[in-house]
Amino acid sequence: MSSFFDPTEYSNRISRAASLARELGIRALLITPGPDLRYLTGYNATGLERLTCLVVPAEGAVNLVVPELEVGTALASPVGALDIGVESWQETDDPYALTARLLGPITEGSKIAVDDRMWAVKAIKLRRALPSAEQIAAGVVLSELRMRKSPAEIEQLLFAGAAIDRVHAQVPQWLAPGRTENEVAKEIANAIGQEHEAVDFVIVAGGPNGANPHHEASDRVLAPGDVVVVDIGGTTAAGYCSDSTRTYALGEPSESFAADYGVLEHAQAEACRAVAPGMTCEEIDSVAREILAASGLAEFFIHRTGHGIGLETHEEPYIVAGNTRRLEPGMAFSVEPGFYRTGDAGARIEDIVICGTDGPIMCNSRPHELRVIG
Ligand code: ZN
Ligand code: ZN
Ligand code: ZN
Repeated sequence: MSSFFDPTEYSNRISRAASLARELGIRALLITPGPDLRYLTGYNATGLERLTCLVVPAEGAVNLVVPELEVGTALASPVGALDIGVESWQETDDPYALTARLLGPITEGSKIAVDDRMWAVKAIKLRRALPSAEQIAAGVVLSELRMRKSPAEIEQLLFAGAAIDRVHAQVPQWLAPGRTENEVAKEIANAIGQEHEAVDFVIVAGGPNGANPHHEASDRVLAPGDVVVVDIGGTTAAGYCSDSTRTYALGEPSESFAADYGVLEHAQAEACRAVAPGMTCEEIDSVAREILAASGLAEFFIHRTGHGIGLETHEEPYIVAGNTRRLEPGMAFSVEPGFYRTGDAGARIEDIVICGTDGPIMCNSRPHELRVIG
């Protein structure tokens, strides 16, 4: 397993996590395999029934509880280069009791934070092993850190964005009347796999299917005149996600669709342009929403404008009304307004945007206009 970041990047993340835990009155963070563990240590462990758990106390030594048979894998990850004690356990040991012992005495009501994606069965066993603690979700610490990308992470997101752009560049050659959405999706998935470590999702939504933002792909045969929404994403070897939508048309669209699409293009571009430190998440959402509303499209834009992205496709910050969080340099998220006319057609344009010190840093650079094929 190779490391994509310098060990100091990980040790800085761990010490920032510990100090934020201290600030928030959290006694310790317990992190099992998943994006939080990968973020803190670079260890991309497979989540299995045996307990692997990073123990990050607010003060004191950091330890990784790991099954004896996985010690080699753990040490081959960046964990081996970090100041982390490795506490292995044998098949007949109780790793939950070991985790509790590593924490030492716990005063009644101490807050112990478990990672947001910990398996319920593990959280319940940890609760039993630490009966005097109050269990909370570690997102209050980890999301705060993860939503602010470091320069090295920004590089990875730009790399992921360029990878998915190369896939979109090939999409027009696969779209044609007479093919099914599934056939097209299969070609796209292959291309995502070539450009990324993993394929996360492929949405090919033609004609009326485009009006359902959650449509994936079906046996529906693409027809002349269809508008096709293609929303695709993968994960790179470093663990960073791509996510980009472009809308294609099999032949010239109707005049009214073209007019609506022009409004969408404008809304998406203006929302991207508005990205700057100090803007709130809901302000970015309303930039897109108000432009669509001014052309009577408000009721057809049925979802938030965007979601944060990084080691997960959806993470904080969410670009949605009610989110008054102010953008800071390093925050990365999608800007993806759309309009969905049930029974008819839909359209969406999605780019990943990073808040830079003076304005937006765009991760995607494919043209936004409706790409007419044939
Ligand atoms: Zn998407
Ligand atoms: Zn998205
Ligand atoms: Zn404008």
